[in-house]
Amino acid sequence: MPGPLHIKKCKHCGKEFDYQYHHATQELYCPFCFAEVESLSEFGFGPVWPAYFFIGNKEIAAINEFGKYPDLEFVLEIYGYGEFALETGGETGFLKVMAAGRQIVQGYVGKHG
Ligand SMILES: [Zn+2]
Repeated sequence: MPGPLHIKKCKHCGKEFDYQYHHATQELYCPFCFAEVESLSEFGFGPVWPAYFFIGNKEIAAINEFGKYPDLEFVLEIYGYGEFALETGGETGFLKVMAAGRQIVQGYVGKHG
């Protein structure tokens, strides 16, 4: 269930926008300058997938596990653009997987945001 609406201030461009916590794991981009504003993982340890990406209050992408073993293979879905297998070089820690997803998302945010 979405949380209450907050006002966020972008630490990069200084502009303010509405923001809502929808998921336990989500990463937020500024709707004005498209820089990363915040990365949130409620759990810290344990199952954190799927993880979601937001531009302001708009959900734009998600990372999900796939395959039969947990925490090994991940796919990034950018809504409207398709699915991308994440290359993590055999490292499957949360930060590594998020970094791989972020790199692809930022390519789309920069071009199409
Ligand atoms: Zn900004």
